[in-house]
Amino acid sequence: MKAAICYQNNEPVRVEEITIDPPGRNEVLVRMAASGVCHSDLSVITGIMPAKLPCVLGHEGAGTVERLGDGVEHLRAGDRVLLSWVTPCGVCYYCRLGDPHLCEVGAKINSTHRPADGTTRVHRNGADLQAFCGLGALSEMVVAPANACVKLPDDAPLDKAALIGCAVMTGVGAVFNTAKVRPGSRVAVFGAGGVGLNVIQGAAIAGAERIIAVDVTRRKLDFAVSFGATEVIDASEEDPVAAIRERTDGRGVDYAFEAIGRKESIEQAYAGTRKGGTCVVIGIGSRKESVSLSVFFIPVMEKRLVGCWYGGADVHRDALLLLSLYGAGKLKLDELLTRTYPLGEVNQAFADMTAGLNARGLILHPSS
Ligand SMILES: [Zn+2]
Ligand SMILES: [Zn+2]
Repeated sequence: MKAAICYQNNEPVRVEEITIDPPGRNEVLVRMAASGVCHSDLSVITGIMPAKLPCVLGHEGAGTVERLGDGVEHLRAGDRVLLSWVTPCGVCYYCRLGDPHLCEVGAKINSTHRPADGTTRVHRNGADLQAFCGLGALSEMVVAPANACVKLPDDAPLDKAALIGCAVMTGVGAVFNTAKVRPGSRVAVFGAGGVGLNVIQGAAIAGAERIIAVDVTRRKLDFAVSFGATEVIDASEEDPVAAIRERTDGRGVDYAFEAIGRKESIEQAYAGTRKGGTCVVIGIGSRKESVSLSVFFIPVMEKRLVGCWYGGADVHRDALLLLSLYGAGKLKLDELLTRTYPLGEVNQAFADMTAGLNARGLILHPSS
């Protein structure tokens, strides 16, 4: 089977034949129908996201269960599943606390890009490969932990479900779970890429009165309007903080979301939040960069600055909730999927993402 492998930072991804082991205990073999193309994969390529190489890229997607390993209870062969890039173990401190997205086992898998036992299921010419987030979803088949597979209804559209696995879960989850946006609120969203667009549509579903999109790319700002932004600020033309204050009676927004992961835009999002408001940082930036905040104003302004990992989601609960919002015509997934590619064109898909050409691109596998 074929997979997209990153061998060297800042070099093109290579699509090559690899071998995959049969599923082990509590694992399943999934035949992928659709695999997402996400900024986090690009961050592995650029080296911002630390990962041992060579690594099969891809951490979002959907497909059909082909084969079960021992001990798998909640799935059957033929089931449609969505892959979660956090594997919740169900029994660790955080899973018991009700925060399965912070699962300790899932975090270990995400730091090693191998199954929790430290082995690997993917190889090329006898050498071990890593699989991004323990999945390596940019391939024709994936051996995934059973707990990372969300069972979908039999009629679920797998291409749309693949989108839910990362960008939609993260963006809409940041609104519903992390910020808990109240109806009538004023919201600003920094970054109108795959995640930011989903923050925008989440805020629209939550009943925000004003949704201000901030970006430096005209095309992305146009996408933002079609996903529910009520106004846009081109940060290459005007100071976004001054522009936000001007539009909010000088106060700032109730909720600001940063979906880029840059020092400057995190500081701008915080500055554009009103007193007592909430600033949510979703974008994943460099470990070497730090933000600067006034020590005096932290207590005086009483703002909440919170991080958001995977939309604060319980993926097994929230994926089905999002799918039903799509079914009800409230969540825009058809509009999000602006282009599909075969696996062999994965480098083009990354290039188009960098150029901001797509709301979201997707790899479709012909066998599906
Ligand atoms: Zn992603
Ligand atoms: Zn856990």
